[in-house]
Amino acid sequence: MYFGTNGVRGRFNELDPALAMKIAQAVGRYLKGKIIVARDCRMTGGTLKAAVNSGLMSVGCDVIDLGIVSSPTAEFMIKKLGANGCIIITASHNPPEWNALKVVDGNGVAISKERGEEIEKLMEGEVVQWDKVGSIKRYENATKDHIDAIKEIVGPVKKKKLVLDCGNGTAAVIAPALFKQMGMDVMTLNSHLDGKFPGRPSEPTEGNVKELISSVKSSDADAGIAWDCDGDRVIFVDENGEYVIGDKVYALSIIWNEKEGDVVTTVATSKAVEDVATKKGSKVRYTAIGAPYLCEEMRKEPAALGGEEVGGVIWPGLCLAKDGFLTAAVLAKALGEKKLSEWLKQVPKYHNVKHKVKATEEEKIRMVEKALAHAKANELHHNDIDGVRIDMKDAWVIVRPSGTEEFVRIFAEAKTPEKAKQLVDEYEKIVKN
Ligand code: MG
Repeated sequence: MYFGTNGVRGRFNELDPALAMKIAQAVGRYLKGKIIVARDCRMTGGTLKAAVNSGLMSVGCDVIDLGIVSSPTAEFMIKKLGANGCIIITASHNPPEWNALKVVDGNGVAISKERGEEIEKLMEGEVVQWDKVGSIKRYENATKDHIDAIKEIVGPVKKKKLVLDCGNGTAAVIAPALFKQMGMDVMTLNSHLDGKFPGRPSEPTEGNVKELISSVKSSDADAGIAWDCDGDRVIFVDENGEYVIGDKVYALSIIWNEKEGDVVTTVATSKAVEDVATKKGSKVRYTAIGAPYLCEEMRKEPAALGGEEVGGVIWPGLCLAKDGFLTAAVLAKALGEKKLSEWLKQVPKYHNVKHKVKATEEEKIRMVEKALAHAKANELHHNDIDGVRIDMKDAWVIVRPSGTEEFVRIFAEAKTPEKAKQLVDEYEKIVKN
């Protein structure tokens, strides 16, 4: 089994060019026709891209090579170039020694683990006849096309001062140009491509963006923005240097979105998202954890916005990619109306407690069953889309088996840290009982 929640991921000794070529052949047999290939700036990106291109052409696919671009850029280009899908060589926010093949189909829907299993069945097979081998073409304008589309959606904005932390990732090829073209006063950090990420680790956690926080404060900027390596995830820093975590970014996006309709999110997302959506009159549809499930749900039934707790927001008016640049551009527009700290007052505050309980595979199943039985017996408002999530007034708790480790995770959110801790303790007792 190679496909995980988001493509095929590994260190270079695991995801090597030989495996990348076999996966690309299988993807080519599955998607067929014209396929976009793009990569981030990781050290192993060049050799893996050559293998992917070769694999696709060997099964008769025509490759459109976008070079080094962000993931949202590559996904936006699928429809624009009439491609049957894309393979993006990126390990997203992971450390530099990792890489991955992220696969997206012709409808812009990321390939889930389940669909990945179908693709893996096509790994063994023949190459095409010598005169049916595919071609390869470079397309140089993807970033420009993406910038133009974002500017068109967002429209005119007031000039504000922004600090952009590109984290030495692909944000460097799009973000400074985008915000300068939007007329913003731009200051940049870590804005040269470097596959070793010398500026900061790629995941834009609060601890990793300390330089951004201090730069926003010292430069009197209106906001700071940071992305992960492939630019689908984004976090903000307000004018006082306060870090704005992923699910708050999503809650703000719901407030700022001009489109009406349902919003889609995963069962791990803060209740703040449901609170702001309900206030706006939008229904919340929950999915399992993982971006492909959000895409599938939004493709199945239209929604106004999709988003996950780590700061990936899908704006379906553009495409079904999590787009950290469109999200940031919408922030830039909102700053014209009021300060980010003022906007944040509209997002309810919650406290959360995360806990994990050691469990074997069998125990994991039993613990989740116990949580479900408890919810049913007590007629609690719950869903079992991914683990068991129980919603109460102003609080919720989720009991969920870890997919990769020997743990059951118990995560609670409430209006006070004490209440969240109490919920975690209560459910630990229930599942261990
Ligand atoms: Mg990412």
